[in-house]
Amino acid sequence: MLPWTTYDAMRHAAATDPDGFWLEAARRIAWEQAPATACRPRADGWHDWFAGGTLNSCHNAVDRHVAAGRGDQPALVWHSCATQETQILSYTTLQRRVAGFAGGLRALGVGKGDRVLIAAPCMVETAIAMLACARIGAVHVVVFAGYAAAELARRIDDVTPKILVVASCSFQGRTALPVRATLDEALAGAGHVPDGCVIVQRTACPMRAKPGRDHDFHALERHVPVPPVPVRAEDPLYILHTSGTTGTPKGIVRDNGGHAVALSLSMELIYGCGPGDCFFTTSDLGWVVGHSYGVYAPLLSGGTSVIVEGCPSAAVILGLCAAHDVRCLFTTPTQLRVMRQGGADLSGHDLPALKRVFVAGEYADPALLDWARSSFRRPVVNHWWQTETGWSITAHFFGLAEGDPPALMEDIGRPAPGFWPRVRPPVEGGQSGEILLALPLPPGCLAGIWKEGALRPPTSYLADHGACYRTFDEGLITDDQAVHMLGRSDDVIKVAGRRVSGVQIEKIIAGHPAVHGCAVAAVSDGLRGQRPVAYVVPASWPVQPGWTAEIVERVGRALGRWVGLKEVLFVKQLPTTRSGKIMRKALATA
Ligand code: AMP
Repeated sequence: MLPWTTYDAMRHAAATDPDGFWLEAARRIAWEQAPATACRPRADGWHDWFAGGTLNSCHNAVDRHVAAGRGDQPALVWHSCATQETQILSYTTLQRRVAGFAGGLRALGVGKGDRVLIAAPCMVETAIAMLACARIGAVHVVVFAGYAAAELARRIDDVTPKILVVASCSFQGRTALPVRATLDEALAGAGHVPDGCVIVQRTACPMRAKPGRDHDFHALERHVPVPPVPVRAEDPLYILHTSGTTGTPKGIVRDNGGHAVALSLSMELIYGCGPGDCFFTTSDLGWVVGHSYGVYAPLLSGGTSVIVEGCPSAAVILGLCAAHDVRCLFTTPTQLRVMRQGGADLSGHDLPALKRVFVAGEYADPALLDWARSSFRRPVVNHWWQTETGWSITAHFFGLAEGDPPALMEDIGRPAPGFWPRVRPPVEGGQSGEILLALPLPPGCLAGIWKEGALRPPTSYLADHGACYRTFDEGLITDDQAVHMLGRSDDVIKVAGRRVSGVQIEKIIAGHPAVHGCAVAAVSDGLRGQRPVAYVVPASWPVQPGWTAEIVERVGRALGRWVGLKEVLFVKQLPTTRSGKIMRKALATA
């Protein structure tokens, strides 16, 4: 039960007694040693949450629910749109498999603080590997399985993992893509050499194991199960890479304690879900929503999590909602556009358990939200997220007795507790501008950035002499505290809800011998929200046939095909500011 019934009462409590507010929220978690402090400044200028507390995230997500009598309840429901398989794992089965695989990781020499890089699709084994790392205090680094070898190699070098976990193949639609060549190329290209690789063998496309390097996932699961080990609240649980302004992926570090507290609170406060409720997110586990709401939050609150491999059709989504009494569906605008384009008719589906639909990750236009609301005949809530924050910065709060949001939400909700946004207008008196968040950020947000083998404070995000966090998102805040989103202030492009840096694409294009200069801008895409377009100044004219295909191929090979660069426009010059900076926004709207 939440101690407040109105939004204003909750905001007031979080503002006037933040320590009391968060220590109360921390009671949702089973601590080995309960924390006595909430937020504590760190010597490096950032802050720790619940320092002094010790816990285990896997125990909180799995074991304690078995102990509380939920052993037979489904914990994870997995469906593959590629292979049409479905698996349901009860809490007891999940506990057995996670504890066994944790034993297998131990046998491979993985211990507290070691990184385990997991480059597998959205599968049960991916979730098991994540939870097994948490169980033994190792740090999981899940990498989207669609990345090309070079991107995988960069991440291997960034986090220097002891072990890699991969699946023998991933899928594009229903076509199996064997992983062995990508894995070998990534390992050959990386400077760091992991101790070994664990392979999830898939029947559709098994992989020939490399003796001495590769181990079988399912054989490792049969190791003697190991119990959860207590870790410090501020110890890292995972690292997740994301794109920023620099063109170099940043490893966002999440702690154990703050993460568990924030996600547990969010399940009741934002999503109105509790123990036994079923939560379905369509996000891949390689992205932040998959981490937070595909694995941790539903399990931390003793619920059931439905996860899917691939892009589910409307029929699959509705079928899963009906079969598992899904209470909350969390999806992306891109997924809704896919459903709308496919002519989804939801009218014949009753779905009595489904209470609400949430969207996040990219701009959702009002017409799309309206289509979703009238099709699902449920409230559709738009809320604002970042990989860095780990949970939503703004939302609607179903845990409060405030009722449904307006039929058509034009904003992205009001701030969640602990988030104190303000707008920094570029011109005096302006109403819109970059949204800054006052520090400290609430629990669950980034504990820092992983750089050169250690946790560093996120200095590139600081504004106002270190008093604020930069979101790099632009918007405005209305008198009712609702935040309205206008777009990114940096060069990040959102392709089907996934972040890619325009600068990163430019660096790859610049390596083509015929390119003198280039700029990559985002343009609207009817299905995927945005797509990148490259403007290239060639080293010589005329443009040769084949250059476009070579540039497109170069980007796809370096980053992965999902980036979707298709258009390359050859131009005489790029628009620049007086100081010589390329005006990417001018290109995007040209
Ligand atoms: P990611 O870290 O991949 O989750 O991407 C975070 C970025 O996605 C944010 O900084 C925003 O630019 C964008 N974003 C997330 N949620 C929304 C939303 N509801 N509306 C518009 N943009 C959003």
